[in-house]
Amino acid sequence: MSIKDNLKNIKLSLPENVALVAVSKTKPVSDLMEAYHAGQRIFGENKIQEMVEKYEQMPKDIQWHMIGHVQRNKVKYMAEFVSLIHGVDSFKLLKEINKQAKSHNRIINCLLQIKIAEEDSKFGMSAEDASTLLQSEEYLELKNVKIVGLMGMATFTEDMKQVEGEFRFLKTTFDQLKTQNSELKTLSMGMSGDYELAIECGSNMIRVGSSIFGARNYQ
Ligand SMILES: *Cc1c(COP(=O)(O)O)cnc(C)c1O
Repeated sequence: MSIKDNLKNIKLSLPENVALVAVSKTKPVSDLMEAYHAGQRIFGENKIQEMVEKYEQMPKDIQWHMIGHVQRNKVKYMAEFVSLIHGVDSFKLLKEINKQAKSHNRIINCLLQIKIAEEDSKFGMSAEDASTLLQSEEYLELKNVKIVGLMGMATFTEDMKQVEGEFRFLKTTFDQLKTQNSELKTLSMGMSGDYELAIECGSNMIRVGSSIFGARNYQ
């Protein structure tokens, strides 16, 4: 099926409150433009350099989401235009985002990435650390970043019971933190293989790549 048809089918199945991030990493601009012409405006990339190149070539009404692990020394390249950074996992990174946002006179929205998977390869902070960060003086002093929610990636496994447990844990964490911080609105969880389950578990933002653009050869 075409990118357009894939997008249409996914969108038809989504509840109204769920935002769809089209994960376009490794795909050429022509593929992204096909999605754009089908109405898609939120794109997710996991490499800053690649996102910058695509940003420069594409229409300016696109919201660019950085969904990958962020190196502090590269924040400056996306600070001018990025609309949401999903993978914030330390105060040091948040401080750098704040600094670069300030130099562009912007407030950059961020999600805290919570480690919910068993695998060591996945990044993220603990629920306790996220809670501490959100309530800290140091965070409140940062005027050019706003934490608007949480993001998580489940373990890569066929065992859907395990994935469900991880999603439910993230939703519980989200609900708890929301009682302390009313700015938390977005819960980013779910990818091609598990977004339906993620939505059942309370996700309101899914990050879908291969089900829209087809399989990737690498990454
Ligand atoms: C690649 C990626 C996705 C999309 O994965 P698919 O399985 O292709 O839908 C979602 N989230 C993150 C963080 C990713 O790196």
